[in-house]
Amino acid sequence: MTTLSRGPSRRSRLALLLAAALACTPTLASAFHIGTPASEPCHERILLGALDVLPPPWSAADDADLEPLLALLTERARDAGLPGDDASRAFVADLSRRYGLGHIEDPHRRAVVAALVLGVRGPDTGGFAIVKLNELRVRHIDDGRQGNHALRRSTDDGTDGVRAAVANAREAVERRIDEATERWRRGEAFARERWSFALYGDVAVRALGPAVRLGEAAHAVQDAYTHTLRDDDLRVVTVLNFVDAVLDRDRESRDGLPHSDRLDRCDPNDDFDRLRMDAARRATAAVLAAAGRRLAGPSPDAEATLARALDPVFALRTGCSRDDGYCGSAWLKPALSGQTEPISIWICAASPGRDGGDTPALLAGLLLLGALGRRLQRARRR
Ligand SMILES: [Zn+2]
Repeated sequence: MTTLSRGPSRRSRLALLLAAALACTPTLASAFHIGTPASEPCHERILLGALDVLPPPWSAADDADLEPLLALLTERARDAGLPGDDASRAFVADLSRRYGLGHIEDPHRRAVVAALVLGVRGPDTGGFAIVKLNELRVRHIDDGRQGNHALRRSTDDGTDGVRAAVANAREAVERRIDEATERWRRGEAFARERWSFALYGDVAVRALGPAVRLGEAAHAVQDAYTHTLRDDDLRVVTVLNFVDAVLDRDRESRDGLPHSDRLDRCDPNDDFDRLRMDAARRATAAVLAAAGRRLAGPSPDAEATLARALDPVFALRTGCSRDDGYCGSAWLKPALSGQTEPISIWICAASPGRDGGDTPALLAGLLLLGALGRRLQRARRR
């Protein structure tokens, strides 16, 4: 039992923080959802489907074969030996429980899958516990991180902005894969990462570094199907905007459509969700399989395979705007049904200017959240 559940005052403090977290949920859900007490584990399931770890409808027979990649990574884990510290072992056990990895018999293989899942969650939380609203908020409104979620930066304005956002998102994926390759070639195995245990908080664990980076690449690939509108050929017609929308300074003609909570969903019984989930899973499998060929050794063929995997994810149809319903995209109506609102309660209120400078309101909000977090931590230590 955690000390958090002992007394009514601590419980009410936790309730306050959770209420704040839920009220601020749009800032936490800037993607296909990741699993939290308030959201479905979409990214995790799409990845595990691509890896064939989950049964249909999460997996499908015609996906690219990820066995060569998994075999390589598993061999690296076996050669290095599994980390023996308590936190790292608890991390794999926790993750296996949460996502049903118990049927993977080889513990080295399980550690590889765990590292990929840690990576696919990473861009949304950085491994921080979801009650750490200040850390999360800073991450989520950082222009430098929007590409990790296939979102526009606040400078990606107008039609040129769509092109720039698409290029930026593709680069974000390529950078992650480059980093994985680089770590792989220098022989990296288990490296220090952050993992958040439910109701406990985040701790340092050791996870297979190249696999974590590949999981992060998969996250950006998957977000390209939640943060864009596409036409019937699945070409991107526009890219959504999170940062201007939550800061209440968006103008659609300039900044694009606001991020949509509706598009973050992954209900396998909903046709629209299924379409996007299947596309995201196929793309995840293709990109990871291509990355696997890269790890196996440098070759022009591996580079071409990777480019072929990324092309459909970031295929752009230019010249679409709100005037023509974004070239008649069927994704527009659902996107409009769940647009992300500016964060409205005072605890999350902030409105930096368009130049990105922080206002006292933002700082006050962050200080308050920091103070709440510290009180909670003190309460936990008692
Ligand atoms: Zn994301």
